[in-house]
Amino acid sequence: MNQKPQPQHMVTRFAPSPTGRLHIGHGWSALMTIDIARAAGGAMRLRIEDIDGTRSRPEHVAGIIEDLRWLGVEWDGDVVFQSERLALYEDALETLRRQGLVYPCFCTRAEIAAEIAASGSAPHGTDGPVYPGTCRHLDGHERVDRVARGDAHCWRLDMARAVALAGALTWQDMDAGEIAARPEQAGDVVLARKDAPTSYHLAATLDDAEMGITHVMRGDDLRDATHIHRLLQALLNLPTPYYRFHPLLVDADGKRLAKRSGSIALADLRDAGTDPAQLRDDLRAGRFPVGIRAASA
Ligand code: GLU
Repeated sequence: MNQKPQPQHMVTRFAPSPTGRLHIGHGWSALMTIDIARAAGGAMRLRIEDIDGTRSRPEHVAGIIEDLRWLGVEWDGDVVFQSERLALYEDALETLRRQGLVYPCFCTRAEIAAEIAASGSAPHGTDGPVYPGTCRHLDGHERVDRVARGDAHCWRLDMARAVALAGALTWQDMDAGEIAARPEQAGDVVLARKDAPTSYHLAATLDDAEMGITHVMRGDDLRDATHIHRLLQALLNLPTPYYRFHPLLVDADGKRLAKRSGSIALADLRDAGTDPAQLRDDLRAGRFPVGIRAASA
């Protein structure tokens, strides 16, 4: 734990994407998230990250709520749905647009892959290979014309400009202490997708601030994303929460548990007659079903 004074009232959040039922890794994460809040006399909010119109399903939202209630994870306040907050994200994107910090990108995935293959180098960022910057070089008229014409585009952060404007930044990892932000490793990340007026990075950062989240507990897989979020906080004048990361659960082959891969779903355990109180005790003690373990970071 770092030495900085912690805020008086801790607020954490559990933020699942409704793309399937929750597995025991989610249950473990949700318990750790509520436990750090309760230990500090604080609150935990539930946020449904449903901006992905094709993969998010209402039945999964209902399933997640059922799974959490069954496991005995009781959040505070109303459930927040990202799909109901698109105007908040659009306003923030507009703020960045006015500062010349985002640009429209018309590239398809195939074009980006071809460009990377041709350049012979493929540095890897948070969201996959770093975008080579093709559309950053389009001239202003072409951009305006193509957007006006309705050419499909996402909006990317001009990382070099953003980093130059924000300067050196740090954030607090509750276990490792002060961390120097290195958002540049991610390249020009997408802040608004072709099919949605936001992306995970923009929505999660804005929501954490707007919901008054003081402590973010998330999986190790989102450690790199945190550097981007810290930069967005600086650009948008948002507070920076404390962060803590937990290992992901993996199966006997070392593969991450995933909603789609038939991992042990909480719903299956319930149907098999599992006692949720026993499961809570097991998860809190780090006792996982046979063949499942926490990966080392
Ligand atoms: N929605 C993300 C997930 O299900 C978590 C987001 C976060 O913790 O910032 O993996």
